[in-house]
Amino acid sequence: MGQQHLEEIELESYLDGQLSWLSRRRVQGHVESCESCRARLEALRARRGYLERMRVQLERLEQADDQAMRTGLRGEG
Ligand SMILES: [Zn+2]
Repeated sequence: MGQQHLEEIELESYLDGQLSWLSRRRVQGHVESCESCRARLEALRARRGYLERMRVQLERLEQADDQAMRTGLRGEG
């Protein structure tokens, strides 16, 4: 059975929950039997988690920056 490996876009959509029921079943079935695609899926998931953490940290920094600026302005005024 020359089963094709999953496309990156399929893995992305799978993580986004944007695949149809059938496609989702296909991805799940494939990663269960294919170690390399399972690793790719996990890597993608990990990368997303990392990006999400970075985004949250950045937002916090921006908020702190904003607050510092406002405090600074108030101090001057
Ligand atoms: Zn595969």
